[in-house]
Amino acid sequence: MKYLSTRAPSNGPTHSFCDILLEGLAADGGLYLPVSYPRVNGDLLDEWRRVLAGEGYAALAHRVISLYVDDIDSDDLLGICRRAYDAENFGSTQVVGVSRIGDGQLWIGHISNGPTAAFKDMAMALLGELFEYELTRRDRRLTILGATSGDTGSSAEYAMRGRERVQVFMLTPAGRMTPFQQAQMFGLKDPNIHNIAFDGVFDECQDAVKKVNADVAFKARYSIGAVNSINWARLLAQVVYYVALYLQMTGSNEEKISFAVPSGNFGDICAGHIAREMGLPIDRLVLATNENDVLHEFFSTGRYRVRASQEVAATSSPSMDISKASNLERFVHDLMGRKPEITTDLFDTQLSAHGRFSLRRTEAFQNLAERYGFISWNSTHADRVQTIRGLWCDCGILVDPHTADGIHVAHHLAGQIHSPIVVLETALPVKFADTIIEAVGVMPPVPERFKDVMDQPRRVVDLPNDPEAVKAHIIEQLG
Ligand SMILES: *Cc1c(COP(=O)(O)O)cnc(C)c1O
Repeated sequence: MKYLSTRAPSNGPTHSFCDILLEGLAADGGLYLPVSYPRVNGDLLDEWRRVLAGEGYAALAHRVISLYVDDIDSDDLLGICRRAYDAENFGSTQVVGVSRIGDGQLWIGHISNGPTAAFKDMAMALLGELFEYELTRRDRRLTILGATSGDTGSSAEYAMRGRERVQVFMLTPAGRMTPFQQAQMFGLKDPNIHNIAFDGVFDECQDAVKKVNADVAFKARYSIGAVNSINWARLLAQVVYYVALYLQMTGSNEEKISFAVPSGNFGDICAGHIAREMGLPIDRLVLATNENDVLHEFFSTGRYRVRASQEVAATSSPSMDISKASNLERFVHDLMGRKPEITTDLFDTQLSAHGRFSLRRTEAFQNLAERYGFISWNSTHADRVQTIRGLWCDCGILVDPHTADGIHVAHHLAGQIHSPIVVLETALPVKFADTIIEAVGVMPPVPERFKDVMDQPRRVVDLPNDPEAVKAHIIEQLG
């Protein structure tokens, strides 16, 4: 399989999987996509159903990912998948699971069983193994520099901890993460993990990262890279759980199911789109946003408008508090018929000039719901709290505020959907104790594997709001 930037002409330069593995944006500013999506048929799905039941999730991941990777030896890739998705990291060899809410149309897809209790682990675990493999093969080292408001940073740190060729420097807005998230990150003892409590809000952390990256000589000297949500390998890893959940939910390939997905950067649900394009029998893709409804606005009106940072509300589902949806370009590229000149016009010319574009009058947008299955809605804080309380009181199920957003939206739209809906559980309630207490008055249970997270000594340095201080810290640590 070869990969092409969304902004490159179809006869433009293609790349292999490992060439884009360590990269974010393509040089032309676009995002990488495979030149085509491999199609799965009923026979292959039957085989995958047997593989999942017999050999577990890692073996299924190997089958799915192999369709997209032709520059890693198959046995090596199997080893990578086995190490990423083992029972020690994810609690069982099945890794993901489904459970029904009461006896209704809605199910919960459990994809947050990993080391940091958020679905980001599903992608990061694989990325950690792939990075180690490829860096060793190329005899290279990498310094991951990132900013996080919570789930991505801790997931990346767990995936990269102890890896010889990788150093991680993670900026967090001082005092702004939940106590559990802080404990999770700052409690890591591995010398290659460097936590920075940065004296600023999340946007300022991101700005500092950008400024460090703008120093080209520094960037080259320390091999600065990232693990952000536009990385293709992260999306690919996520395609696997759509397949696994589908196979667990169904007995035959005649059956269709829908997925409801709490969305921010459009990474999680973009993998659902890819799985659907591969021919996985997905009925509807239900996109759920919180108050920051950039994506709901796009899917309901055709208008995509990037928000100014002061317009972004700090909500009780913080991992969805975004001003723009970094992966949307991939979907729009498919929607508009994969024409790089159109994609470039929309995401480069129009966004730079006006901060928005509209597809409302295009035929592609008019047919979007029918052709691609998307349907969207949003939630407020009150909706999420009510959803958490209702589920707890009626069914004894406790969900986190992001998952609650998905459940609220799925409920709201269920009347229009004629298939079982699997709501993806993007984090466990333990990460967001404040909102849980507000909703139901009890502390969320702490899963056994996190029992002593809160008691670890903290490893974190305080830095002033200044990119130069970040650089100085990196130099001091790495020499
Ligand atoms: C990252 C995250 C999301 C949003 O996922 P996207 O891929 O950005 O759409 C939702 N919920 C939780 C808990 C997350 O960590």
